[in-house]
Amino acid sequence: MAAIQVLDSNTINQIAAGEVIERPASVVKELLENAIDSKATAITVEIQGGGLQTIRVTDNGSGIVREEIPLAFKRHATSKIRTASDLFQVASLGFRGEALAAISSVSRIDVLTKTADAPFGTSLHLEAGVVTERGEAGCPNGTTMLVRDLFYNTPARMKFMKRDSVEASAVLSTVQRLALAHPEVAVRVLRDGQEQLSTPGDGKLLSAIYAVMGRQTAQEMTPVDGSWDKLSVTGFVTRPAATRGTRGSQIFFVNGRHVRSKLMTAALEQAYRNQLLQGRFPACVLHLHLPEHLVDVNVHPAKTEVRFLREQEVFDCVHYGVLGALEQASGRVQMKLKPQNDGNSAFRTMSAAEYRAAAAALLEAGLRRGRVARH
Ligand code: ADP
Ligand code: MG
Repeated sequence: MAAIQVLDSNTINQIAAGEVIERPASVVKELLENAIDSKATAITVEIQGGGLQTIRVTDNGSGIVREEIPLAFKRHATSKIRTASDLFQVASLGFRGEALAAISSVSRIDVLTKTADAPFGTSLHLEAGVVTERGEAGCPNGTTMLVRDLFYNTPARMKFMKRDSVEASAVLSTVQRLALAHPEVAVRVLRDGQEQLSTPGDGKLLSAIYAVMGRQTAQEMTPVDGSWDKLSVTGFVTRPAATRGTRGSQIFFVNGRHVRSKLMTAALEQAYRNQLLQGRFPACVLHLHLPEHLVDVNVHPAKTEVRFLREQEVFDCVHYGVLGALEQASGRVQMKLKPQNDGNSAFRTMSAAEYRAAAAALLEAGLRRGRVARH
């Protein structure tokens, strides 16, 4: 066997890229998350050739301080955490400090960036992770990352790329999810010059749903707003009459991150029990919020798995939240309560908390029996 050697940094970055950067959509996800972390309110994503030719992400966020730009492309260089203990309360989307290092090791990158207090911006060109040019540039506040010729120096990876149209739709799905996670950010996607998506960024989830899923789906949705101890769930679900043939339109976020979760799917669908035909599924966009220490964020960045410390509470929160929404939509929980102060509304709908208490007592026994197996 050959002598043991420590790998050089570009090789290490390419190995990391293999794990984090699988396809153009993974680049777009990382660049978009960086833009959101930089407090951008408007982000444009442009791709050509399915993203293999070019990906350009432009944001109006904080920009990167001139002296720190080369650092941003170093592995494990991040402005988002300082020590391991910060890992338990990560509020940003990124924190590993490896995305830009990984992306730049397998592409050619042009960066344009300017902070609000800098008199001019900075441009930087990198080839396979090495800075080859650097200059001043007139540009607006924020950052533009132009990634060209993705995987040009890793032909083995290139072979796994699908048709441009397949890669482009994976990019679009990625941006759509980010747009639904951040209705406060106006997100645009241009594919080969054609606009594919444009969200208003007005902070309303329903506006983002309208832009991403279409008018029909937006009209079929009813709002969810529930809480369970320190957990809360908000968002929209389709009314029972408006279902889908697949689970493709069930979108879940945990503390702003898109996840796939059998547990949350089960909790959602249980709420529709007896109201759905066989083989029909609700659509949803649900945001679960819980204290960071109850969820493990330190999972693989390219994966959408999530680990909850208390699965039962997560199930209950989503389940009763959705149940409350469906009951309200059907008008069944109109309860006669004491007149309000203004005296003219003798009826009102139960609050989420009131509903939760009532529903919990009523449904406990039956639901626990019928619960779906969880992972
Ligand atoms: P991470 O996001 O995990 O910190 P990245 O490699 O994605 O690591 O980015 C490294 C650093 O570069 C970030 O911590 C941030 O300080 C800076 N950065 C990257 N993209 C942007 C951007 N669009 N706007 C402002 N700063 C950015
Ligand atoms: Mg990042």
